[in-house]
Amino acid sequence: MAHPSNALIIGGGIAGLSAAIALSRVGVRCDVVELADEAPPGASVSISGRAAEALDELGVYAECYANGTPFTDSSSLTQMDSAGHVTSAGPGLPQWPGAKTAIGIYRPVLLRILADAARGLGVTIRSGVTLVSADERADGSLVTTSDGEQQCYDLVVGADGIGSTTRSDLFPDAPGPTYSGQISLRWMAPGPPVADQGWYHGPVGRLGFYSLPQDLVYLPAVVDAPDRTHLTDDDVHALFTELLDSYTAPAVVELRRRLTPDAEVICRPFDWILVPDRWHRGRTILIGDAAHATTAHLGQGAGMALEDAVVLAQCVSTSATLSEAFEAFMTRRYDRVRTVVETSVALSRLEQEGSAPRENVAVIQTALQTLAQPY
Ligand SMILES: Cc1cc2nc3c(=O)[nH]c(=O)nc-3n(C[C@H](O)[C@H](O)[C@H](O)COP(=O)(O)OP(=O)(O)OC[C@H]3O[C@@H](n4cnc5c(N)ncnc54)[C@H](O)[C@@H]3O)c2cc1C
Repeated sequence: MAHPSNALIIGGGIAGLSAAIALSRVGVRCDVVELADEAPPGASVSISGRAAEALDELGVYAECYANGTPFTDSSSLTQMDSAGHVTSAGPGLPQWPGAKTAIGIYRPVLLRILADAARGLGVTIRSGVTLVSADERADGSLVTTSDGEQQCYDLVVGADGIGSTTRSDLFPDAPGPTYSGQISLRWMAPGPPVADQGWYHGPVGRLGFYSLPQDLVYLPAVVDAPDRTHLTDDDVHALFTELLDSYTAPAVVELRRRLTPDAEVICRPFDWILVPDRWHRGRTILIGDAAHATTAHLGQGAGMALEDAVVLAQCVSTSATLSEAFEAFMTRRYDRVRTVVETSVALSRLEQEGSAPRENVAVIQTALQTLAQPY
């Protein structure tokens, strides 16, 4: 299998669009198929130092920075109780030599920037479309998509998220995602910034917040829920209201004041998966959440997706064959991603066992020292 000239990317999320940009920049013509007709409601996403560097390699960091919130101090790791008293000050941020400033960015804005950049490089993005079949042949993978198109591709990238059907097609015997025992509640509160950023710990769950330039405050929360049950929108709103009501910290009281009955609170169970060893078979490779999804305790899942995309293109452009490129990719990605998944899951477990917040911060700091290394 020689250097690929074209690629089909399944999934138009952060991993898929980034891969389309990175591969296009090394001369691979890319088509993206995205199942959703339109983007679902999103929240903010934090992009750490190294992942910000990946955004820079994709040529979109400056635009993301201009539309996001830079994280320039360590207050985001300050721990507070439900009344807002500091229980442990934020430790110094780890050094990420040569890396860009970390940012928080509203996911729909990030996806729009990535999609515009991809289209500018000649990438086609077909929404409401998925893979129907892929037939591996000597000269490529003959792919049929749900819009009736049929084309032969040198490379197929499965970037279709935690519920990836590319993954279940490639590795039918592999176990599916595991539930962590916690759920995430996220809300984009309208209005100006709120002071006293950090993580607050209360009887119902923990929460944090930061402001975005779009006159929004991003408020993520984590709640223990041992059984993986479906919550209706009304259940989610009631739980979120109960969570905010359990705080007397002035910052949270201010945010609670902004919560209206029709506010859209996004609820997601924290599931995780790490495909062992190899994420590829034949001409197809998995990247992003399709290969490794995690809880958000390190806030690094999207960062790993961005890094995957950049590294895949580097490996493709410097390897003589596709199989060599895949081997080189696995060597560079597996241990780094495993650190993120295993640490995040361990943090989730520690929280459920009632560990002190400062113990968790120490675990986070150790992992971040590892992740500070270049990808
Ligand atoms: C609550 C929560 C908070 C998080 N916060 C952060 C954070 O602050 N920082 C961070 O770095 N990470 C964070 N993450 C992780 C981050 O959201 C994911 O790691 C990231 O979105 C992975 O990107 P992806 O493109 O691989 O997958 P996805 O974002 O899931 O995108 C996959 C895309 O593929 C499409 N698709 C699915 N199936 C098909 C199909 N069959 N055919 C075609 N298209 C398909 C989907 O519609 C979707 O657009 C968080 C995760 C959660 C759950």
